[in-house]
Amino acid sequence: MVNTRLRTLRHWLLPESCLLCGGEAEADAPLCRACGGALPVLIHTCPRCAAANASAVSAPCGTCQKRPPAFDRVHALFAYAPPLDWLVHGLKYRGRLDLARFLGHRLADFTLGLATPRPDVILPVPLHVSRLRTRGYNQSLELARYVGARLGIPVDAVGVRRTRATAPQTEMPLAKRRANVRGAFQATRDFAGLRVAIVDDVMTTGSTVSALAQCLRKAGAAEIVAWVVARA
Ligand SMILES: [Zn+2]
Ligand SMILES: [Zn+2]
Repeated sequence: MVNTRLRTLRHWLLPESCLLCGGEAEADAPLCRACGGALPVLIHTCPRCAAANASAVSAPCGTCQKRPPAFDRVHALFAYAPPLDWLVHGLKYRGRLDLARFLGHRLADFTLGLATPRPDVILPVPLHVSRLRTRGYNQSLELARYVGARLGIPVDAVGVRRTRATAPQTEMPLAKRRANVRGAFQATRDFAGLRVAIVDDVMTTGSTVSALAQCLRKAGAAEIVAWVVARA
């Protein structure tokens, strides 16, 4: 409460500028109202993995039909298109942790509109300790903290460990990505009967979320959804 009042006061004294257009940002946000309201949303997506579907048909995409993923559903807030790619990059590589708060709250509010059961626990995608050391923070955990606090759902940052330091996946083809993350996660607790929501910044092919979901499934999770800020 005091924090909120202090932020409001600071904003009134020193309004911050919008990261995208340089105009006056909204209180407690890194963007102005117009830029915050014009972020790219997804329109027709696969009901299972949230990949863009060229047609308006609400059937699972070809990939999900051929090879059903280990997770139950993905819910994506935005499309991974400009300027979302730039914002996610800022959160991930340029230490813009103010974006974790903004995007985390937007993601939390978005999930409130979903007609799905409330998860028991929120699980950020773990980073390997070596990556954590270089980057200094895990952007998924930073997002998850705000999502969890907003929704009143506990965040488990240690329930799954990343046991292998996997190579960056950005330029890898799908089959290679799958092999790259296979067996990279290990549960350190029992998830028996729990509904788990994995939180991540961006989902590209889904290999990472799928590998994590496989690990959660083995640990007994009853339902596994992924809440992601952006879907490529
Ligand atoms: Zn703006
Ligand atoms: Zn799909």
